[in-house]
Amino acid sequence: MICKICDSPSEQLFNGRIRNGAKGLSKNEATVYKCQKCKVGFLESQESLSLQDYQSNDYHEKFQYMQTERSKKILEFLNFSSNSSIIDIGAGAGQLINEMNEKFTTCSFFGLEPSKELSGSNIFNNFDEIKDKFHYATNINVIEHVDDPLEHLRSIHSLLHDQGKLYIMTPNSNDYNLTLFPKSFSQHFYRTAHRWYFNEESLLKILIKTKFKIDAIEYVHFYNVENIFKWAEKEYSITAQARPTSPLINENFIKLIKDNKLSSHIMIRVQKNGN
Ligand SMILES: [Zn+2]
Repeated sequence: MICKICDSPSEQLFNGRIRNGAKGLSKNEATVYKCQKCKVGFLESQESLSLQDYQSNDYHEKFQYMQTERSKKILEFLNFSSNSSIIDIGAGAGQLINEMNEKFTTCSFFGLEPSKELSGSNIFNNFDEIKDKFHYATNINVIEHVDDPLEHLRSIHSLLHDQGKLYIMTPNSNDYNLTLFPKSFSQHFYRTAHRWYFNEESLLKILIKTKFKIDAIEYVHFYNVENIFKWAEKEYSITAQARPTSPLINENFIKLIKDNKLSSHIMIRVQKNGN
């Protein structure tokens, strides 16, 4: 398989049944490839769902995803100058827009959401409808879903004012769980709704290719240390008798995971660099 992002050859990374939304595992085995050059992981297009499919099905993970705890963590990383305009690309049910609106009261917020479940005078359904330019764009857990990430990022680039900034977040394909629990966690991590699997290297490469320059990189981890026991039970069918957890252990665990770039998600802030 040739990588659609950099036209280089890839190698097989995983083969097996993978997560298929709320329906459990996919009926057929799927193959995940990894580009030898840019290191992005990807599903063959016929194995991943079409846009229409995930809009009505797995894409709804996106709607449930932005729940309180997680969106609080995401909000910690977002910072906007006063009186700026922000567009959330892949706005889901509009939750992040509402929360950003409450925090940054002088800013104006817009959204792009193709699934038409979200409407309003500040909501667009596709890139072509948007005639304005924005100071910031947010793209939270969206890039892994789109068919063509290059085109998607170029479209966002063209929506930004000169030196406008983009916050982009996606699951981290260097998540430590993939190494610790290669069988059970891989089936959970790889999913029909996610065509693309980025780590820092592949995400930086595509952002530079689409004319952004890197401002800041943050590792975000959404799970506490207890999560390890859950996957250990699944992978090895063992039940831990004692679960040594405490807020301090948890804090150190999360710091260790983030310092080693092995967290569940990666967030990068970039600035528009040229036209
Ligand atoms: Zn590539």
